[in-house]
Order: sequence, then C-alpha cells, then structure tokens
Amino acid sequence: MSMKSRQFTTGIIGTIVTAICCFTPLLVVSFGLLGVSVWLGWIDIVLLPLLGFFLALTVHSLLAKKKKNEPAVALRSTLTCPECGKRSTEIMPTDACQFFYDCRHCGAVLKALPGDCCVYCSYGDIPCPPIQIAQKEGALTSCHNCSTSC
Ligand SMILES: [Zn+2]
Repeated sequence: MSMKSRQFTTGIIGTIVTAICCFTPLLVVSFGLLGVSVWLGWIDIVLLPLLGFFLALTVHSLLAKKKKNEPAVALRSTLTCPECGKRSTEIMPTDACQFFYDCRHCGAVLKALPGDCCVYCSYGDIPCPPIQIAQKEGALTSCHNCSTSC
C-alpha cells in the first residue's frame, strides 16, 4: 500500500471509529461499566476535535489523490526548422527548458524566440510541458509569461 492510500485508510477508519464513539452510547456504556463516568463530560471535548482531525485527514488524502491524477502532458514535439524547413520530432525534457536546438537536417542552431522559454515553444507544434500544464489550467494561452515557471 502506498503512503497516500495508507493515509486515506487511516482517515476513513479514524472517522468511522470516532463517529461511532461520538454518536452511539458505546463509549458512554463502557465508561459507565468501568466506573469512570466522571470522564463523560470530557468525551465530547476530546472526540469532536478528533473527529475533525480524521475528517481533515480523509479530505486531505482525497485531494492529494486527485492532484496526482492530473492528465499527463505530451512529451513529444515536432520542431520545424526555420533554416531548412524540415521537421524533426524530439522528446522534451520535463525538468528543464531547452533554449537551443541543433537541427538534425542542416545543423543550424535554433534559438528560442524572444519571450519564449524554449525552442519547442517557438518552433514546435506542441509547447513545452510547463506551458501545457499552464494552458490546461487556463492560466496561460501563450508562452510569453512562462519564463518564471521554467
Ligand atoms: Zn534545419
């Protein structure tokens, strides 16, 4: 089991157990049997924050799961060389921006256009991964603001 699903399971079980203790007389009865009914006044004070904590844990792990399921970005982009007009498909790096690119056909060194973060944004048919993510989130339609994200 992964770290996240373990956290999720803990959150669910904790919520259920705490809810049972809160909303059924189970705990009251067992406390009564043990002769510690003096504590009963404290139960809600302890259990309600506990319930909140477990609920928060469940929600948090759910949100974390959702984030993880984000659609994958395309890593292949076809560059069109401005010198020779030929196209070549390349796999883009996800952790860095490629500012220069040597054309496979004519050897020309392609440089990202001013305002663009990498050659894929300038000459490729698919922009670089950070831009794809930004576009999916609707935050950005062109590459011109992306220099901070790269
Ligand atoms: Zn070329």
